[in-house]
Amino acid sequence: MKKRRKIQLFLLDLLYPNQCPCCHRKIPWNRYLCDMCQTLFQLPPDTFCPGCGKPVESCFCERGPAYDHAIAAALYQEPARSGILSLKRAESKNFAYACGEVLGRMVIADPELLAYDLIVPVPMAKRKKKKRFFNPAEEIAREMSSATGIPLRADLLEDTGTGAAQHTLSAKERAANTGHFQIPQTADLTGYRILLCDDVLTTGSTMNRCAELLKSRGAAVVTAAAATTTPAQEDS
Ligand SMILES: [Zn+2]
Ligand SMILES: [Zn+2]
Repeated sequence: MKKRRKIQLFLLDLLYPNQCPCCHRKIPWNRYLCDMCQTLFQLPPDTFCPGCGKPVESCFCERGPAYDHAIAAALYQEPARSGILSLKRAESKNFAYACGEVLGRMVIADPELLAYDLIVPVPMAKRKKKKRFFNPAEEIAREMSSATGIPLRADLLEDTGTGAAQHTLSAKERAANTGHFQIPQTADLTGYRILLCDDVLTTGSTMNRCAELLKSRGAAVVTAAAATTTPAQEDS
């Protein structure tokens, strides 16, 4: 943890005693999660498919995702689900820090990923971001960037939509609802290797659309980095 962050968290804890974002237990000021919830990241190394980022039993590589590889930190189930909700409700950024740190470690452990050029978060519609205070994907990406030293570019992709929640839509509707993501005509990403970061990977349609856009501007490789990915039974 960087010194500036330590000071921030120490002072914040005096006003609002630090809580685990997943279970709301009190935790020391210098922790992001409680010991029990921290174990949500302790999954067998072959839990997620390295091609699509889904749990291996619900791999959708045969549908040919627009991204090339994927990493994921946790399953979208309790207690991680509560952690993601705490971000959506802007209760604290703890869960983003925790996920960003874990994804950052995964990148550092892989020399190929560590040589990537950019980390790009899946964007959030401006109006929605104003209401929510921050974009969880961007906070996770920022933490990954600070852990790995790979530059963050949060201004490349834009979400010009109304902010209709993807999770309220069916798989078909989700795929059709990604037309509002945009990238500037002038963006030149020729040869770039990009880590594309989001908080939850479900059907992959958001990651796909964003990867397509990055590649349309010349990106050579896109690896999806998902903080969480939904288990098979939830992908209806
Ligand atoms: Zn906890
Ligand atoms: Zn797969």
